[in-house]
This record gives sequence, structure tokens and C-alpha cells, in this order.
Amino acid sequence: MYLSDIHTHSIASGHGTTCTISDMAKAASKKGLKLLGISDHGPGTLASGTSSYFRSLPFYPRKRFGIDILYGVELNILDSAGHTDLSDELLNNLDYAIISMHRQNYRSGSVSQNTEAYINAMKHPAVKILGHCDDTHFPVDYETLARAALRENVIFEINEASLAPGGYRGDTRAN
Ligand SMILES: [Zn+2]
Ligand SMILES: [Zn+2]
Repeated sequence: MYLSDIHTHSIASGHGTTCTISDMAKAASKKGLKLLGISDHGPGTLASGTSSYFRSLPFYPRKRFGIDILYGVELNILDSAGHTDLSDELLNNLDYAIISMHRQNYRSGSVSQNTEAYINAMKHPAVKILGHCDDTHFPVDYETLARAALRENVIFEINEASLAPGGYRGDTRAN
């Protein structure tokens, strides 16, 4: 039984879902979840939350349909220095951030460059989760990444979409 889902996209991410945050909260409540986290894409993605959207999130209700709501973001890692696509001013007001690599705005480097990109990005205190770091397009050194994650108190996501047969992230099972 799942108690929470904290990697979710609303209509603000503009890629497929037509659900508002209220729709998602209602569905989560119906499924018996205790906690829902909203993590729309950062502004570096073609369709994404705008900066005014992320500026408003902290003022939204913390509880809807009887469940707790967290407001976060799925950041785009932009380079191996670990730069991401939301300013500190906005990021620091959110509950959490997921850091992910997406093909439209991160160019894969070597294993050590990709690993370094995650490690540098996760140093930001808002970052709590490594997003789909199973993607075969961005090879990483899992041993090194896991040690860094332990140090920074950041968790690995096992991404359901990555494990779907014929998924667009390649054969992620080994990763
Ligand atoms: Zn996502
Ligand atoms: Zn993603």
C-alpha cells in the first residue's frame, strides 16, 4: 500500500496530464494516500511551471480533501557544475526539490561528469530526491552517487515510468 506520492505533475507541466492540483488531491484522497507532493517541471523544460506559479505555491492550502500536500518542483540539472533551473529565491520557499536530467536541456557527458552533475546539484538544501537516475541516456557511477546521497540525506527514486516495458529511458532494469 502506498502512503504517499511525491513525484507528480499537474496541468502546469503541460505534458499529458489535464489534472489540476485539486483533481490530484481528490484522486489521492480517494486512493487512501496520506501525503501528496506536487512536483511540476522547472522552467527549463519547454512546458513547465512558470516562475509566478512557483512563487504562488507556498500560499496554497496545505491540506485538501483530508490529505497533506507538499509543494515542490522537479528541477532540471543543466550542466555538470550542478546548475538547475529555478532561482534560490523561489526554491527556498518550496517544500522540496527533485533533481533530474532530461534530454531537452542536459547534454550527457562521461560517467564521471554525469555523476558529478548529480552530486553538485544535490548539495542544495532544498534537494531531497534524485529523479529517475536510471536513465540509460545519462550513465552514472551508482556507488559514488549512493555515497554522496547518503552524505547529503537525499533519496533515490525508483521511477515507475522507467520500468514500464518499452519505456523511453532505455532498458533501465540493470541500472
Ligand atoms: Zn517527473
Ligand atoms: Zn523527469
